Amino acid sequence: MKPWDGLYSEQDLGALLGAVAFAAVKHQDQRRKGHRRLPYINHPVRVAEILWSVGGVRDMTTLVAALLHDTLEDTETTPAEIELHFGSEVLAVVQEVTDDKSLPKAVRKQHQVERAAYASPRAKIIKLADKIRNVSDLVNEPPADWPKPRIVAYVDWSELVVAGLRGVNPRLEAMYDDVVRAAHIVLAASNVCHR
Ligand code: ZN
Repeated sequence: MKPWDGLYSEQDLGALLGAVAFAAVKHQDQRRKGHRRLPYINHPVRVAEILWSVGGVRDMTTLVAALLHDTLEDTETTPAEIELHFGSEVLAVVQEVTDDKSLPKAVRKQHQVERAAYASPRAKIIKLADKIRNVSDLVNEPPADWPKPRIVAYVDWSELVVAGLRGVNPRLEAMYDDVVRAAHIVLAASNVCHR
């Protein structure tokens, strides 16, 4: 897709709506971890929306990849499907933000910390928006089976990842900082989730 010149083509808007529909179908049987078990699709839609409204992102490849960012990792979606419907450029970004699930979780988490700084700018801002949403959801909608130390550990880990993502989008970085600041206050004050 060409860089944004102030106008979107029919093809761009078709890809955007196609990505919403594709992700909705792929995530249709999944729920977020929070205690309300909200539909999973809320998450990638909100990640893409943050990129648009807070990050000022107008690059269609980034927005489409944001909508698809968890399909490879968390659904049966294949790289070939994404390439077929959205092209190799979108696929490359989605692959960049996908963890290798054949690795143990601790290794995957360490890889995210170590590799964040080397990600492409598109992947960096999607990861940043993803962490914003995940931290916000974990604090405001804690999963029933997550004791508070696990939430604290997630927030701490996300800060290590985000350290490597900085320098690409100051507005998203500021939003992340606000979300983490609020998270620390809520977590320090709350005695829910103690196990
Ligand atoms: Zn995500």
